[in-house]
Amino acid sequence: MPEPRSTQAATPPAPAARPIGAYERKSAGVLEWDPRVADVAARVIELVRERRPDISVEHIGSTAVEGLPGKGIVDLATEVDADEVAGVSEMLLGLGFQRQPGPDPFPAIRPMLVGALDLDGTTFRVHFHVQPRHHPVWSGGYARELKFRDALRADKALSNDYARLKRGIVETGVDGRVDALAYTHAKTIWIRDVYRRLGIGFEPILPPATIAILGGGQLGRMLGLAARALGYRIAVLDPDPECPAAAIADRVEIGAYDDIAAARRLATGSAVATYELEHISANLADQIDEEILLRPGNYPLRVAQDRLAERQFLTKYELGVAPWREVRSETELRTAAQELGLPLRLKVAIGGYDGRSQLRIRDASELTTALGRLGRPDGEAVLVERELTFEAELSVICARAADGETATYPVARNVHDGGILVESSAPAEIPDVVAAEATEIARRIATYLGLVGVMTVELFLLADGELVVNEIAPRVHNSGHWTIEAAATSQFEQHIRAICGLPLGSTALLVPAAATVNLLGVGAERPAQPKGIEAALGVEGAHLHLYDKRLVRERRKMGHVTALGASPADALRTAREAHARLGWA
Ligand code: ADP
Ligand code: MG
Repeated sequence: MPEPRSTQAATPPAPAARPIGAYERKSAGVLEWDPRVADVAARVIELVRERRPDISVEHIGSTAVEGLPGKGIVDLATEVDADEVAGVSEMLLGLGFQRQPGPDPFPAIRPMLVGALDLDGTTFRVHFHVQPRHHPVWSGGYARELKFRDALRADKALSNDYARLKRGIVETGVDGRVDALAYTHAKTIWIRDVYRRLGIGFEPILPPATIAILGGGQLGRMLGLAARALGYRIAVLDPDPECPAAAIADRVEIGAYDDIAAARRLATGSAVATYELEHISANLADQIDEEILLRPGNYPLRVAQDRLAERQFLTKYELGVAPWREVRSETELRTAAQELGLPLRLKVAIGGYDGRSQLRIRDASELTTALGRLGRPDGEAVLVERELTFEAELSVICARAADGETATYPVARNVHDGGILVESSAPAEIPDVVAAEATEIARRIATYLGLVGVMTVELFLLADGELVVNEIAPRVHNSGHWTIEAAATSQFEQHIRAICGLPLGSTALLVPAAATVNLLGVGAERPAQPKGIEAALGVEGAHLHLYDKRLVRERRKMGHVTALGASPADALRTAREAHARLGWA
């Protein structure tokens, strides 16, 4: 007999009386199908029906398919109008469900609540998915889940196949790893094929849809040009109406990178949003994610925009980083200096780029003033890490498609001057094993971030051949500009393909080697008037890109030159020769 409904529905029951218990995370494992999952599902569905007889709840996922082994989690789902999502979530919280823990939860517009139910002394974990109907991003997900479940129920061979795959993953791992992420990744590939066969694949975003770009700098401009070549329309958010991307955009919304109202205007009429820089407020990203699709995603953004979060992420996945500490005070800095040794690099957690907002500490006498010189708010945590002596700086650009497929470009070798990239060439002349490892590191990071789009990882190659990750950029990157002329698909086109759900293009080099030399500003701030263009273009094989920034200023990135060659050195020679002929009036 169901309990009589409380007449005081507005007062939530005391915690102890809540029927749904606390959720515990567990490591991946495959359990045999337990017939009691059907009772668990039925009990939770009944609890919901007592409170909300108007919504229907379905048992989905592996436990909904008789005989299918899996993680043993009872997945339930409902679909409600978007403005009902919050209310239904509250009702579930009232039952004892919790919000999804972990760093990368589903957004509030399509939440997953978690809980547990005891049955005959066994605790069953429950995931409750609330899907919004008629939502530009999420609608369709509910129907897909039901179709997938019904196909597994109806087709014994298909569910046997799925069972074999799951057992195999747990026994032998994926790429030698037996963890939740590897498990999910391998499953995704299989599920993608089934979806394709069932005709329930995700619809790509097709031209002439509008792509919203957060940030209108040179990267936004080159992304926009690639998108336009494919027939997409472009909307750009930037504080500067004369930003480099403005000239190629259909629409420019003027606003800072934390201007939610401007972001809302940008999202209106756009099918997907992306960003050309990490310095987008995370709240703004969340907001966009609730309204339209945000790719590569807001989790990669959060990880990459905060150097401390980035170091924690890399450490968690056992990827090599320079020894580091989080410090808030001079005392903590002194302790870190003792433990890490000098010289050190001190970096603000959020907001630095092109070598800004970081400084070197060579001598213990500099420790007293270092935090003050960094100019960060008092008490704010900063990153301090050992300065490494490296053989070379490398970067790998990796694309990841919505279905989990990855594609990496040949490794580039980069030269920085005072923290700013000046030259990039590819393929890096490094041993094949090092290139393969660098590529694998990038592929793993992309997968672990669950990112959809192009991302870049900057690495240090140490004298002993060890690779250390310096930075993750969840976006197209300056060290990949050579892909415009030298690769079968440029990094910009690749990003557009990935975020629109289209197949990735070939990342092959079309020539033996390529190099890019950055054109930086020189001198005082003044209107930008380039000099020497005819002379530079007179260098055979040199390609000039100017970003049309209105003002030139010392060390500002104003453009770049790319050249192709028989070797990286050869390509660099040509690019440098053209670069040397350029300047500013
Ligand atoms: P940005 O966000 O400005 O690119 P990075 O952390 O990548 O900041 O630092 C810029 C450059 O400074 C690097 O490309 C590298 O040349 C140098 N650098 C940064 N950290 C270290 C380190 N720990 N050891 C040696 N060089 C470093
Ligand atoms: Mg960097």
